Amino acid sequence: MSSKKPFENFLMTLKDASKEINLCDKTLKKLKVPENIFQTEVSFKLDNGDIQQAPAYRVQHNSARGPYKGGIRFHPDADLDEVKSLASLMSLKCAVVNIPFGGGKGGVQINPKQLSKTELERLSRAYFRTGTEAGIFGVNKDIPAPDVYTNPQIMAWMLDEHEKILGEKSPGVLTGKPLELGGSLGRGYATSQGGLFVLLEYLKQLGLSPKKTTIAIQGFGNAGSFFAKLANKAGFKIVAVSDSKGAIIHDQGEFEIDKLYQYKQAGGSLRGNFCQEDTCDIEKMSKEKVKTISNEALLKLDIDVLVLAAMDGVVHEGNVKNIKAKIILELANGPVTPEADKILEKKDVVVIPDILANAGGVTVSYFEWVQNRSGDVWEEDFVNEKLKKIMTKAFTDLQKIQTKHASVSMRKAAFILGIERIQTAMKLRGQI
Ligand code: GLU
Repeated sequence: MSSKKPFENFLMTLKDASKEINLCDKTLKKLKVPENIFQTEVSFKLDNGDIQQAPAYRVQHNSARGPYKGGIRFHPDADLDEVKSLASLMSLKCAVVNIPFGGGKGGVQINPKQLSKTELERLSRAYFRTGTEAGIFGVNKDIPAPDVYTNPQIMAWMLDEHEKILGEKSPGVLTGKPLELGGSLGRGYATSQGGLFVLLEYLKQLGLSPKKTTIAIQGFGNAGSFFAKLANKAGFKIVAVSDSKGAIIHDQGEFEIDKLYQYKQAGGSLRGNFCQEDTCDIEKMSKEKVKTISNEALLKLDIDVLVLAAMDGVVHEGNVKNIKAKIILELANGPVTPEADKILEKKDVVVIPDILANAGGVTVSYFEWVQNRSGDVWEEDFVNEKLKKIMTKAFTDLQKIQTKHASVSMRKAAFILGIERIQTAMKLRGQI
């Protein structure tokens, strides 16, 4: 297993990129330390009347380019170290796609799967009430969105709590909302769509067609499942997919995408459609041409593109040597550790890094915020056209850095691009 030290990992990559451009100490120092850390214990009532407390955070990393922007996650591992690293990545991510935001991230250290819907609502409201009363959130200050195990319904509860305190409507304080409350068309699948635009652009340069490109997807949550659908529509072959309960692989070619959704629904998990614990329905598997494999085995498949769409640190020193994919697309945040990253570089595996690959989500969040502030409602095609332009431009900007700083990886180039843009903003403000 990987040893979890996300902020240290962020600092390692930051220092590495800084060295390449001889970054001045003042800028580096600013980027190493978040501007504000809000830390509390959030209390909410359980259905049995007991009061539960959970550690809760909002880290505001850098606001030189605009208001803080970034999701809120509810997860047992969401501690301060993790939230700090994710907030820092958000500053760079927003700079890479050149949208006018800084970076922030929120987290509550809790397992939301153990809460009822009413408990989840009370937790969501309590978290946002605490942050709003402390003056953390605001439409021009800090704009959260969904992240791991949070969703549009949770955003709706949080928005409602915020507006009650404010005494007026303020839909732009949160993004990733339901459409009925000011959400944007295209936001639900934007992370996957953005990743796909970048992948297609890269393959075009390599002269590879989607039809000849095989893909395995690790993670079948929001990002992974939408990616499967969109990639399949674009012609890619999806040969293997996993979720937290295990992986399945198609025996003779590629999956029909609708089947994957059916499996997940019928069995509760992809593997669960075929197996109960260790007992598998062999007949069903052979009829569907499906084999079950372990999650680790999925990472080792000999395929063209490995899409990492689950949690951080899944590819680490201990398993990186088994990777056979030629390209890794990081739809999750931080799925490859810096140690593994170095080894992948030596193996000539190209990693399309998180701060570019999954930036489609925050980009459409930006569109949502613009719509909320102007009162306009954009059509879905318009959203996707604009998203494509931004993702393609970011990829081209990143490649220019790769040309200028010969042989730097895409991750290092993305960091350099983000750092330089934030540095310019800090200079203009007279902060450095
Ligand atoms: N949580 C997503 C991310 O990590 C989206 C953030 C946002 O839309 O603000 O990029």
